[in-house]
Order: sequence, then C-alpha cells, then structure tokens
Amino acid sequence: MSQDHFIEDTLQIKDPNIICTDIDNSNPEKQVIYAKLTYPLESCPLCGQFSVVRFGTNLINVRMPPIKERPVILKLLKQRYRCKTCQRTFSAQTSLVKPHCQISEDTK
Ligand SMILES: [Zn+2]
Repeated sequence: MSQDHFIEDTLQIKDPNIICTDIDNSNPEKQVIYAKLTYPLESCPLCGQFSVVRFGTNLINVRMPPIKERPVILKLLKQRYRCKTCQRTFSAQTSLVKPHCQISEDTK
C-alpha cells in the first residue's frame, strides 16, 4: 500500500478524484494534509456543451475528523473549469465537501 493511499484511508476519503500530495507533521497542534481535487470534465454541467476548459484552481481549508485527538486540516486544491459556450466558471465537485461549505461533512 502506498503512502498516498494510507493517508486517504486514514482520513476515510472515499472520493477517488482527491489525491493527497503532501503531509505536514511539523506542527504538534495540528496535522496539515495537502491534496488536490481534479478530474476530466468535457461537457458543461450548466449548458451541456462540450466546451469546458481548465481554469485555474481554488484552495479551500477543510477540517477533518481528528487523528489520535490531533486536529487535521485538509488543504484542498480544487480544479476550476470554464465553459467557453456559456462563459460560466465552476469548481470540481466532491462528496467530501458541499459547495460553498468549508467544513467536512463528517465533523459537523
Ligand atoms: Zn456552459
């Protein structure tokens, strides 16, 4: 089992589109995990046209369930997309975090 999957299993991240990229254990008060959320997106969820391009990223902080009583902060880099037909932009979606919500579902 790779280190990456160990982190995802420990945090119980079930979204295969979330890839852990780094882990920071230097702070005894909290553990910081860096991850990215991205997936190929071809058709626009708003207008249905196949004209979606990648459009930068958006960093969010997600409070995860603590590990051994130490708080875990997930710094998640979400892919953003832009539709060339309707000109709208949107972020990659995950079941881990609802849109416009920066606290993970499990810790509510
Ligand atoms: Zn569109």
